[in-house]
Amino acid sequence: MTEPSHAVDARSVSMVFNAGTSGQVDALVGVDLVIEPGEFVSLIGPSGCGKSTLLRLIANLLPPTSGEVFVNAKPASQARVDQDYGMAFQKSGLFDWRTVSKNVELPLELKGWSKTKRQARAQEMLELVKLPDRGGHMPWQLSGGQQQRIAIARALAAHPPLLLMDEPFGALDEMTREHMQAELLQICAATKTTVVFVTHSIPEAVYLSTRVAVMSAGPGRITDLIDVDLGRDRDEDTREGDEFYKKITEVREALRGAELTGPPTGIDDR
Ligand code: ADP
Repeated sequence: MTEPSHAVDARSVSMVFNAGTSGQVDALVGVDLVIEPGEFVSLIGPSGCGKSTLLRLIANLLPPTSGEVFVNAKPASQARVDQDYGMAFQKSGLFDWRTVSKNVELPLELKGWSKTKRQARAQEMLELVKLPDRGGHMPWQLSGGQQQRIAIARALAAHPPLLLMDEPFGALDEMTREHMQAELLQICAATKTTVVFVTHSIPEAVYLSTRVAVMSAGPGRITDLIDVDLGRDRDEDTREGDEFYKKITEVREALRGAELTGPPTGIDDR
């Protein structure tokens, strides 16, 4: 068994897809990644380097071709059954026919919570994401940023120890995106949630993370793990500090190093 303290423990994980006539794709080869509780780890790298695949393996939405994944000190399959993690994607995935509150209540319904308990928790979560008076609205009545906040509220409603996010802010404009990043850090601090976060944006990865995993394609693997020692209390000033720029440069250079073995595409340098 894995050490009880690890939030995620991926050991020698490889994933080969059968891509029909184009043969096999080595989406991930020999990936080792240990994430401790309370960490915020971003996965960054060119399109096709296996970021989403790694996230899906941690979520047990896919079984690895070889290797093992433990979540919360259990096999990932058991953690999935126990709903030890919440997920949020670029598309909020809210159900348009359910009110905002009913969307947030969904994972609690699946867990068999009573109506009163569900409603109380949904309201608590709406307050956490700063939309306390939107419970009765329909998702389509909200802006893109607000919909993402509701998706985060839903993902965290059952208080899972782990949040898995795949480019959740990728479709938002730059100002809203920065605002959401700051709010996400506040939410994580308040809930003590561990986060694994897929992004194409170097500044986003640096601003949010305690560690950045730099990945490379062909075959997909982790080439660098960079500590982001900017402290935990980050705000708008953080983005203008020298340390922030230095860290962005360090990640960019690590990505360039990784590119030497795989074609670069789709990295967002803003
Ligand atoms: P990223 O998230 O870094 O853009 P992905 O994890 O989506 O990369 O994909 C990694 C590689 O695996 C890519 O070459 C992609 O085409 C391939 N791939 C992903 N999912 C499948 C699948 N279901 N079937 C075949 N190939 C896949």
